Amino acid sequence: MTVAFLGLGNMGGPMAANLVAAGEQVTGYDPVAEAAATAGERGVTVVSSPAVAAEGASVVITMLPSGKHVLDLYREIVPAAAPGTLFLDCSTIEVADARAAAELAEQAGHLAVDAPVSGGVVGAQAGSLTFMIGGRSAAYDAAEPYLRHLGARFVHCGESGAGQAAKICNNLILGVSMVAVSEAFALGQRLGLTDQALFDVASTASGQCWALTTNCPVPGPVPTSPANRDYQGGFASGLMLKDLRLAQAAAEATGADTALARHATELYAGFVAEDGPARDFSAIVTTLREHG
Ligand code: NAD
Repeated sequence: MTVAFLGLGNMGGPMAANLVAAGEQVTGYDPVAEAAATAGERGVTVVSSPAVAAEGASVVITMLPSGKHVLDLYREIVPAAAPGTLFLDCSTIEVADARAAAELAEQAGHLAVDAPVSGGVVGAQAGSLTFMIGGRSAAYDAAEPYLRHLGARFVHCGESGAGQAAKICNNLILGVSMVAVSEAFALGQRLGLTDQALFDVASTASGQCWALTTNCPVPGPVPTSPANRDYQGGFASGLMLKDLRLAQAAAEATGADTALARHATELYAGFVAEDGPARDFSAIVTTLREHG
């Protein structure tokens, strides 16, 4: 039995390669020729369609851009998959879409989990991703041996959609806290405070958080943060905006009051329109320092 891997992009490509390195037989598909070719060089058997990849697979892993991609693909391949196939979606998508995808798979007699990740491309390459998992216990148990080839931390968060819920709630904290840290550096500068002095105080006081102590948005205090390399190679601001929008959609669907996250979403939308989607999301400090 093989593992079908659908979506061999920035994340899926190295994840599929790690499964090959762990001894799994991986059949993959991606409509982008370059992504497919790179996966082929890493030992993935590349085929011409998702349906062909899923044929005879015991596990179907998806790593796709959006909920629409996942649902369209599930509608195509779920009916043809062998009974009891495990559908493991690692994409970051809306909670409602994750639940709908799991329902499609389960109604056809398959197992399903949503298992979005954090850790980025570096984590995907190193096999050190954190997985947040939603689904029934039997599906979680079936997924775990495969996830162990791909990541280092696994949290079973609850039923279908719970993995996506945990992911977007975490990234809501991240987006809002990065704006807060950046505003503090912008204000501190106008007050004549050096970045290092603010960092030395806040990083050991009650202002401390990951956005400050690991991903510090200004160059200097944390030499490994993306700010020291013109914000290249971090968590892209376009993906932060995507996750904040997913959180807003979930807040609207449930009636949750997320005023700060709504404002952070607007700020990131403006930033991405101005700066593009590619640089690390901490680069928002540059516009916050210029404006106002
Ligand atoms: P990506 O755009 O590099 O890869 C997605 C791939 O899916 C593309 O290569 C695309 O051609 C392929 N695809 C589209 N339709 C397909 C189909 N029908 N069948 C097979 N393949 C198809 O994106 P990525 O950075 O790899 O992100 C993938 C997912 O992981 C997204 O949901 C993203 O939000 C999430 N994520 C990304 C990061 C990151 O740092 N890049 C971190 C955490 C989570």
